[in-house]
Amino acid sequence: MLINTHHHGDHSGGNISFKGLVEHVLAHENSKKNQEAGAIKNKSEDKQLYPDQTYTNVWCQKVGKEKICLYYFGAGHTNGDSFVHFERANIVHCGDLVFNRRHPYVDRGAGANIKSWIQVLDKALQKFDKDTQYIFGHAGTGYKVTGTADDLKIFQEYLGNVLKFTEAEIKAGKTKEEFLKNKMIPGSDEWKGDGASRPLEAAWDELHAK
Ligand SMILES: [Zn+2]
Repeated sequence: MLINTHHHGDHSGGNISFKGLVEHVLAHENSKKNQEAGAIKNKSEDKQLYPDQTYTNVWCQKVGKEKICLYYFGAGHTNGDSFVHFERANIVHCGDLVFNRRHPYVDRGAGANIKSWIQVLDKALQKFDKDTQYIFGHAGTGYKVTGTADDLKIFQEYLGNVLKFTEAEIKAGKTKEEFLKNKMIPGSDEWKGDGASRPLEAAWDELHAK
């Protein structure tokens, strides 16, 4: 079985390599829809292996001695991201729901929402326990792609800081162009390097959407 945490090419583009090797491909129902829509747009339908199994809120199955559960807690990085819990090992793959000290992509075109993302992380922190080990989709230079609940909380705080900062800049009368020149998120100075404009533009658009 092959599991996709979400549809982005760096997480599902290799599916085709597993054609004939895996019995099933599993993902959230919106991940499949997004993958299909993206492939049509990019004319890459012949390079896809789509999920043949999807779920809406929770999916669990025993696999040998392990029990695997997928959870969908709402819109975050897209509208189709799963947490994948290997219960016995107590390891959760977060896909791109956690960028460890790296500015995230916020795919509004695929239903992403920062406010909701913060709540999604709350639900994860409630569902999993203090011993859970987490695997992250991406990490900044010098940071690991594995970690603990503390790293989820710090990323959650970062998302809150992105919204807070954006709100303040809007109130201060900044234009979008001026605003997007910001390179740092106040209160989250561990997030360095390129890409601050990605979450900032998403926050700007989210706060201007009705
Ligand atoms: Zn992604």
